[in-house]
Amino acid sequence: MTDQTDSRPNRPCAGDAASRRAVLKSAAGLAIGGVLAERALAQTAAADTDAELARVQGRRRVLIKGGVVLSLDRQVGDFAQADVLIEDGKIREVRPGIAVSDATAAVVDAANRIVLPGFIDTHHHFYQGILRGILTNGLLNPDYNRDVSNTLTAAYRPSDVYAGVLVTALGMIDGGTTTAVDTSQVSHSPEHSDAGIRALQESGLRAVYAYSRGAGAATKYPQDIARLQETSFSSRDQLLTLALGGTLDARIFAVAREAGVPTVSHGVNSGTERTLAELGRMGLLQPGDEYIHCNHLSSIAWRLIRDTGGHVSLAPPIEMAMGHGMPAIQDALDNGIRPSLSSDVDVTMAQDPFTVMRTTFTLQRLLALQRMRNGDLNPPRLLTCRDVLEFATIEGARCALLDRKIGTLTPGKEADIVMLRADRLNVWPLNNAPGVVVNLMNPSNVDNVFIAGKVRKWRGNLVGVDVARVVRLAEEARDGVLRRADFKMNLLG
Ligand SMILES: [Zn+2]
Repeated sequence: MTDQTDSRPNRPCAGDAASRRAVLKSAAGLAIGGVLAERALAQTAAADTDAELARVQGRRRVLIKGGVVLSLDRQVGDFAQADVLIEDGKIREVRPGIAVSDATAAVVDAANRIVLPGFIDTHHHFYQGILRGILTNGLLNPDYNRDVSNTLTAAYRPSDVYAGVLVTALGMIDGGTTTAVDTSQVSHSPEHSDAGIRALQESGLRAVYAYSRGAGAATKYPQDIARLQETSFSSRDQLLTLALGGTLDARIFAVAREAGVPTVSHGVNSGTERTLAELGRMGLLQPGDEYIHCNHLSSIAWRLIRDTGGHVSLAPPIEMAMGHGMPAIQDALDNGIRPSLSSDVDVTMAQDPFTVMRTTFTLQRLLALQRMRNGDLNPPRLLTCRDVLEFATIEGARCALLDRKIGTLTPGKEADIVMLRADRLNVWPLNNAPGVVVNLMNPSNVDNVFIAGKVRKWRGNLVGVDVARVVRLAEEARDGVLRRADFKMNLLG
């Protein structure tokens, strides 16, 4: 059940591999001793995995076979056991018993795997990946604003942006996130923006680049968006799309409308109703705009967001830890908005989707249950794990304006798929798939990740990534930023 390389009972060729290993093991055990035998065994297992991966990468049709499938599309349904057929990077079919010929398709055994759409994180400041955990007990104000937003961010060079974005994007894929909105906030110069975009492109993650502010005289925000549209976003047939990040500022909204891109707004909380209403009166709010945090908004503001077709992104773990206010899970639901979820920053809290989902589930239920306990005769409905899974997938896709492409396992959509191991000791035996994903799993359960049909993680390891290089770049960039900012990290504090 816990062997990393070969624990799936119905794995294709398992018999061949197992018998080969048995021969090797007995021969090697007799002839060359235990250590060498184990090494030979590991090499054989790796070779099997590589050959299987090469087959999957080499075929235009891939059949994910025999998994517990949560399509999260009510028309398609969920299945205790079914197959997902990928063809040319898109989902072709989802149902039990799909037959393919070995000559045309690669088969991926999904026994004891939960197969579902990749997770979508609608707000994360990617460049801060090199500063992970640096503000572990910090508050938004003054700590984060002073140390991260100002002191440390100002010290970034383009190569630091590249390293931070790359390590974040790859960490996301490793943890099962296949799409994210990069609320960048480090566009000190066009070169800084380009470095972040290049890292996103190289990572293989699907992302919305929310072009945002920078500091210093060389920043070209927001007008540089016209150049970015031409240089990096002229194709619709790519994993990256463009938005304009900022605060509730009429000038920024006007630039976004001129460029024809959605806005991604920070600083949407109590006290901003009048600004929001003013933007509404000016006709600057449009369907597809994203509003982040939304703590303690009035019902007038909620109505404005809903009626103009806005989407919201809530980051409950960060908001709870750093003092943003009460996460607006219930407020959103009460105002007819199903929220998307986000991790915001990992200077304080884990990025992984499991942490964000679990926090959302427990907090909404705590607050609803407290109301019942206090005699509320009309308490809200308790969220289910399935609700939260939808927040982290299809609602994320809607927020990122990508729901026609991703967010559910629906035939015709692009194949952004994660396969989660249900046979590890932290979750076995499997008794409820949505519950296990939301409340029991963690990134170590992420086995395979496909983005647009491409394998990005395979049997627990990222594919095509020089991890040693990324680790080195991240460390060098971290050292440079801390030195230039004259900021001391506190490793043991
Ligand atoms: Zn943020």
